[in-house]
Amino acid sequence: MTEPREAIVRYLRGKEALDEPEFFLPGGRAELLESLKSGNAPPSDGRPADGDLGRLSRGGSRDEILAIPDMRTLRAVAGACTRCALHTTRTQVVFADGAETARVLCVGEAPGANEDRTGVPFVGRAGQLMDRLLLSVGFPRSEVFICNVLKCRPPGNRNPLPDEIEACSPFMLRQVELVRPAVIIAFGTFAAQTLLGTRDSLRHLRGRTHIYEGFPLVVTYHPAALLRNPGWTRPSWLDLQLARRIADGDHGPRTLRAQVEGEEAPGAEHPAPPPGPIDQLSFGGRDV
Ligand code: URA
Repeated sequence: MTEPREAIVRYLRGKEALDEPEFFLPGGRAELLESLKSGNAPPSDGRPADGDLGRLSRGGSRDEILAIPDMRTLRAVAGACTRCALHTTRTQVVFADGAETARVLCVGEAPGANEDRTGVPFVGRAGQLMDRLLLSVGFPRSEVFICNVLKCRPPGNRNPLPDEIEACSPFMLRQVELVRPAVIIAFGTFAAQTLLGTRDSLRHLRGRTHIYEGFPLVVTYHPAALLRNPGWTRPSWLDLQLARRIADGDHGPRTLRAQVEGEEAPGAEHPAPPPGPIDQLSFGGRDV
């Protein structure tokens, strides 16, 4: 049987991992002592018992990750994750940036060197370009929730491997469910294909509204691809315009699946971009 002292230490460590310096004892002292005597963690509010967090981080199933009840617990489980080999090379886990109340949720591919160092997604050149593109359609970064398919950096910025996506993507999918955004923007092939469960190319997926688990989703180029191909900037901006319209309540052109699952008929095609904000951005240059 677990020693009460040891159980209390484990309990407090769990609270600390969850960034919960203050806590209350559900059921009071008698119930706590009883549960400690039986070696169980004290009854809680639906969260996994603290001892379970480590198990989830080491090898929880996809369904278990998808059942994690809140963002704080999800962050704690991801923060200690050893579910794939990337934990051996990461500096830190890059969980997300932004408020859970955001109406726009952006999904990228995986942290790069800057993100691995800072723990914040999209802070390098690609991230700065993404910020400017989002701002150009009226989504300041401070109002957007940003995360990646992978939470740890693949060495040398190589592409994510299938088993890494399999192990890590439930964290991103759960983030979507917890944020419940008005619109999801998938930046790049890996984000789009993971969310939509398809192998279709970006070329086929862009320019219309998809639905992921009831949430409208728009696909666009990854900002790192825009740095290499500045000519894709305007099409990308059109995609973000579509996301803007969705956030404003107009769901735009839809996929067949979205039309079947959704309510309304398809809307108008992309409008011609007004001259203005997009032309004032400089892309692909050293100053991006
Ligand atoms: N590229 C990504 O896909 N995500 C980041 O966080 C940074 C660069």
